[in-house]
Amino acid sequence: METPEAIRETGKSPPYLYLKLREFIADILFPRACISCGKPDIFFCESCLQAVPRRRVFDCPICRTVRTPDGETCLRCRKRSALDGVFAPAIFHEQAVVAEAIHALKYEFVPDLALPLGTLLAERARDTDLSIPDIIIPVPLHPWRMRYRGFNQSALIARSFSESFIPGFPIPVREDILIRKRFTLPQAKSRNAKERKENLRDAFSLSLGNPDLKRAVKGKVVWLVDDVATTGTTLEECARTLKKSGAKKIFGVVVAQ
Ligand SMILES: [Zn+2]
Ligand SMILES: [Zn+2]
Repeated sequence: METPEAIRETGKSPPYLYLKLREFIADILFPRACISCGKPDIFFCESCLQAVPRRRVFDCPICRTVRTPDGETCLRCRKRSALDGVFAPAIFHEQAVVAEAIHALKYEFVPDLALPLGTLLAERARDTDLSIPDIIIPVPLHPWRMRYRGFNQSALIARSFSESFIPGFPIPVREDILIRKRFTLPQAKSRNAKERKENLRDAFSLSLGNPDLKRAVKGKVVWLVDDVATTGTTLEECARTLKKSGAKKIFGVVVAQ
């Protein structure tokens, strides 16, 4: 069996058993309860998950002024963006429960919250008219941050998403395709949009060493899964990298915007 240390070196999410062990320890320290209603033994109960308000109005993720049915990029912005759209069923500041769940998942190390968040995302994405994905790619974490956090929250959400999007037919989740080739400052620490762009320039590249990787994305519809899209710069960089390798369509699919 691979040791957690070896897995962290590769930048992939650690296996289920390892997460379960961490969870066991966390359970002793923080007894689990629904983050919304306080119901015991579950982090986000089914009825609270269903009660998350539906977002009805979507807009182009680039100009943010043109309304589009499911967050597709508008015709004018398509010329300058590699992203074909960003679907986000929750608005971060409007939905406190979702924001709290994402925060707990990322900063309080509660990996079990990825399951309900992935399910929520899948259920809402199923009702859109976006092209069905051939593959799902979670937005990667740099191995350094992976070492600190122990898991990539986007990868966990992507796995849960894949399981519930078309029940019984999981869509392949590929964590091996996109890797971050250099370390970037946390987005919140870079001051403005220009600095953020600077910070992310060439931060992503297709991992090399496996000739099958280009074939895996060529002509494919890819859904990039992440927890939140703040400015979309990260998603744009991922999309640019994938389109360079021949991907047909790239949609960002994120829990909250
Ligand atoms: Zn609840
Ligand atoms: Zn636009």
